[in-house]
Amino acid sequence: MNNSKIVVGGVEKFSAVDFPGTLSAVVFMQGCPWKCPFCHNASIREILKENDFSWEKFVDFLRKRIGRLDAVTFSGGEPLVQDCLADAINDVKELGFKIGLHTGGYRPEHLARVLPLIDWVGLDIKAPFEVQKYQNIIGVNHLAQVEKSLDLLLKWGGDFECRTTCDPRFLSVDDLLTIAQTLKNKGVKKYFLQKYRPVANDKVTTDDACESLLSDERLLQYLQQNFSGCEVRR
Ligand code: SF4
Repeated sequence: MNNSKIVVGGVEKFSAVDFPGTLSAVVFMQGCPWKCPFCHNASIREILKENDFSWEKFVDFLRKRIGRLDAVTFSGGEPLVQDCLADAINDVKELGFKIGLHTGGYRPEHLARVLPLIDWVGLDIKAPFEVQKYQNIIGVNHLAQVEKSLDLLLKWGGDFECRTTCDPRFLSVDDLLTIAQTLKNKGVKKYFLQKYRPVANDKVTTDDACESLLSDERLLQYLQQNFSGCEVRR
């Protein structure tokens, strides 16, 4: 094992939903430079904060799951924050597991380094590709990085999906249509809408408001007609 510096924020031992069609363990990597208002993992956004999780313990756990799990999904936080991600992925691959990655597309140059090691990617698309709209959600101007990451995935040829958390405080049906049209024009095949579940400090957003974004006929029809893989995740 050669990556004692990797910093884990948490672990889910078994998941049937984080890597589509695959049973995976999910390892939540610490660190994220963004501040999405709908983030449910804010406690691990601080980069490289000390905690009780250890990479070595996680790998020991994986050894006992050989033959019972198919894959490990690296999630976050933002997994591309940590420079030794490739070492961690290689530890997992040595045990025979497939690799999934959840990312927002931060640090495309790092994504390019790890992509040859990866079997599936879920790329979060936070907003229409307009600087101000993207910054309104993530808190910084990183849209160019996201676009580069998407271009990398399109050239890669491996299996990936794009998905958007539909937070009605920040996104409208027209915004979601704009995102879908942009992705379609770029050649994305799989695009998913994810229901926003209000975070603890959001006392105003109603379930009806969240559902209204996911049940718009015009939007659903566009998704069905233009993507081979599309679905609303509630
Ligand atoms: S990118 Fe993910 S981890 Fe980072 S703030 Fe947004 S939702 Fe949270």
